[in-house]
Amino acid sequence: MPREILYGWGRTSPSAANLENPSSQAQVEALLHSSDATLARGLGRSYGDAAQLAGGLVLSNRLLGGISPIDGAGVVTVGAGISIDELLTVAMPQGWFVPVTPGTRHVTIGGAIAADVHGKNHHLDGSFSRHVTALRLVTPTGTHDLTPATHHDLFWATMGGMGLTGVVTQATLQLIPIRSDHVLVTTMRFDTLDEIMAEMLAHDDDFRYSVAWVDCMTRGRSMGRGILTRGDHAPSGTTPVAPRGARLTVPFTAPSGLLNSLTVRAFNELWFRSSPRHREAEPQGIGAFFHPLDGVNSWNRLYGRRGFVQYQFAVPDEAGDSVRTAIEKLSSSHVPSFLAVLKRFGPGNPGPLSFPIPGWTLALDLPVGPAKLPGLLNELDELVLASGGRVYLAKDSRLDAATAHAMYPRLEDFRRIKESVDPEGLITSDLARRLNLLGK
Ligand SMILES: Cc1cc2nc3c(=O)[nH]c(=O)nc-3n(C[C@H](O)[C@H](O)[C@H](O)COP(=O)(O)OP(=O)(O)OC[C@H]3O[C@@H](n4cnc5c(N)ncnc54)[C@H](O)[C@@H]3O)c2cc1C
Repeated sequence: MPREILYGWGRTSPSAANLENPSSQAQVEALLHSSDATLARGLGRSYGDAAQLAGGLVLSNRLLGGISPIDGAGVVTVGAGISIDELLTVAMPQGWFVPVTPGTRHVTIGGAIAADVHGKNHHLDGSFSRHVTALRLVTPTGTHDLTPATHHDLFWATMGGMGLTGVVTQATLQLIPIRSDHVLVTTMRFDTLDEIMAEMLAHDDDFRYSVAWVDCMTRGRSMGRGILTRGDHAPSGTTPVAPRGARLTVPFTAPSGLLNSLTVRAFNELWFRSSPRHREAEPQGIGAFFHPLDGVNSWNRLYGRRGFVQYQFAVPDEAGDSVRTAIEKLSSSHVPSFLAVLKRFGPGNPGPLSFPIPGWTLALDLPVGPAKLPGLLNELDELVLASGGRVYLAKDSRLDAATAHAMYPRLEDFRRIKESVDPEGLITSDLARRLNLLGK
């Protein structure tokens, strides 16, 4: 069996596993019975160790393909290894779009279900799971066709269950109709975080998609200044065409330290100044609006050999102040954050490991290296926990077990449901071991 070193997108904690590429449900079933520790993996876009299993058997889902004809109501059944990019290539020319897309389209349907990914429309449309009507799950005790009505607990535990309930082989999704491959985007630039948050609270619900970029390198009056972009699909246009692939590739791993306080501060200044103060209904392509980072292949190499941490948390509306406190802590620590993205969340899914909480979510990309980083992140954990919030497991590479358990208080429910289909705990991951998610 080929042994491979597997990384998350942040490249911080690789581990070696045996990698197999099953191409059918029968092969997944057979492989699941051949090992005492197994995990599914997609395109490795989770940032930490969620898609790794040291010393175990990792099943790449990439050959679990197939896209059914899209019916007149926009319902499609896809193999778990199909990426959102591949699905859009087929669906967009027929006038259909995915109901939820994360900030990259290079994620598989299996990975989107396991993390229950959210997009810029969570405040109105919820996360990916809300649009999945059925899925097939291979577990150590059998294969199940799940719908929310027939298998409520197992279906929802799988949505956001980080691959720990079994291997998804296919799913049925409800797509949304589009008439154009453009989004009409309204851009607003704000000098303070308070203004951005007030505007998002007042008017996000008027837009299907909304996201704010926040400058975490400024202090004083302009702390947390930023750019808010919101939009919706253009009502008409030419036949939609799927976005093109990346035009650039980062050819080698950059020297660690390339992204430091100075370079990030200079970039942020340029970015902020080059944005219009207020521009309405500007047509932008799907790729530019939803997946700007996909324009450069392997951009994670820019963070150097030490890699980077993405820290994403959600806090309830009543704790909106903790977003400001987090940014204050970051800007006063001088730890550079190249990307800081603020979004509104609606309710989470009914599953025990659902991440979203109605309120705010902030995601920070932080290069590994600064001595202050571990202490800063521990402080942020305390702040998030005290605010009734939680950290996103799909991005995590460094939480400790006790903090994770406090952030996900329904973990016992998750374990009970998992044990009903995997009593011996054969399906596990580096993330599950680090955070003792399974209690074994
Ligand atoms: C640039 C960038 C932007 C991002 N933006 C967002 C965002 O806006 N919102 C958001 O929610 N996330 C975002 N993410 C995170 C990403 O969407 C998730 O981590 C997603 O799960 C990655 O999918 P993948 O196919 O790469 O899965 P992997 O990273 O390979 O695996 C992720 C998890 O899925 C499980 N899994 C994979 N396939 C299966 C299967 N067939 N059956 C069961 N479990 C399976 C794995 O075991 C693992 O636990 C972003 C990531 C990047 C790199």
